[in-house]
Amino acid sequence: MIIKPKVRGFICTTAHPVGCAYQVQEQVNYVKSQNPIEGPKKVLVIGASTGYGLASRIAATFGAGANTIGVFFERPASDDRTASAGWYNTIEFEKQAREAGYYAESINGDAFSDEVKQLTIDLIRANMGQVDMVVYSLASPRRTHPKTGEVFSSVLKPLGGTYSNKTVNFHTGEVTEVTIEAANEEEIRQTVAVMGGEDWEMWIHALQEAGVLADGATTLAYSYIGPEITQAVYREGTIGRAKDHLEATALSLNNQLQATGGRAYVSVNKALVTQSSSAIPVVPLYISLLFKVMKEKGLHEGCIEQMYRLFAEQLFNGNKAAVDEKGRIRVDDWEMRSDVQSEVDTLWNKVSTDNLGELSDIAGYRKDFFKLFGFEVDSVDYELDVTP
Ligand code: NAD
Repeated sequence: MIIKPKVRGFICTTAHPVGCAYQVQEQVNYVKSQNPIEGPKKVLVIGASTGYGLASRIAATFGAGANTIGVFFERPASDDRTASAGWYNTIEFEKQAREAGYYAESINGDAFSDEVKQLTIDLIRANMGQVDMVVYSLASPRRTHPKTGEVFSSVLKPLGGTYSNKTVNFHTGEVTEVTIEAANEEEIRQTVAVMGGEDWEMWIHALQEAGVLADGATTLAYSYIGPEITQAVYREGTIGRAKDHLEATALSLNNQLQATGGRAYVSVNKALVTQSSSAIPVVPLYISLLFKVMKEKGLHEGCIEQMYRLFAEQLFNGNKAAVDEKGRIRVDDWEMRSDVQSEVDTLWNKVSTDNLGELSDIAGYRKDFFKLFGFEVDSVDYELDVTP
């Protein structure tokens, strides 16, 4: 099959196995080129197939020498459809990990369900005994509650009033004004139920009760804060409420785990192009300006650089992680630097359809978007027939 991108809005419905494999290889190479990490040895990554979760898994294995179990929700290939990108990423990750002598197994299913939690516990018990690190990196538009069966949907909306700002269609390069209606209480409740900390806590309790969480284990989830420009739609919007809940869960889990020498953290990561972030209004335009400024200053990082830095310099550096006043690790520190933010602000006020190419790194944004699905990788020949 000759595989080309088929884009529908924020998603690409096809993925390229060779391009995805190449991207994983690049991340593995990056971690191998860095100093080894004195870190965890048996790691569970929930949301392990793309974005920050995949990069965490790669940093754990090729940085710290960890065996891993990955949980995710991905689509295998069928007769006339390619698999999803995360499926191909995982095939390549497992191949690389096993060739290097590490254990790597994966569970494809709904991480919010009791069934997948039980399958994971059984797999840990059979092959690892216990895990000493749990990374929670899910990003999902929906969650079915495992006890009540209620189906929650998350929305990306401001609170308290209608919000308007600039946004970009990154396929066409058109900068327009977007207006988003405020969320109601029910939408806030549902977004918190999907992206808040309840499921993370359920995972940790289930692992503890089954005796498969080692004493002294570290658990980690990811959050975002971002600049003034995106506050209304992100941190002070529905998703921000969910992140508040996730961060409060980290503090409560940290208290609970301290009894056995364990710890729980939220790490606030940098804004990056992932399947989740490209769906948020306003954010892609901010990211394309941010990339321009950070690249010019030599500060740009992708998921793997962020996760390596988090592991090597914060979590496993022999000291306590440095945290902010709310107990969060901040690897968004370079993004939030005042010189970076003030330059992004200046560009934000000027940017329009006419000058987008000059003021922003929209070309880099677009390329990163296609690379998520294994396309636009320089060394891949997309005219070649491949088996999906
Ligand atoms: P992503 O879309 O790349 O990855 C999401 C992962 O969750 C995938 O592995 C997917 O298979 C898995 N998943 C989704 N629903 C699932 C389900 N029901 N069961 C099992 N697995 C499921 O997302 P990402 O951008 O890497 O986000 C991960 C975390 O990082 C999120 O908490 C996000 O808010 C946070 N974060 C993202 C950014 C950013 O800019 N992308 C910045 C800071 C923090």
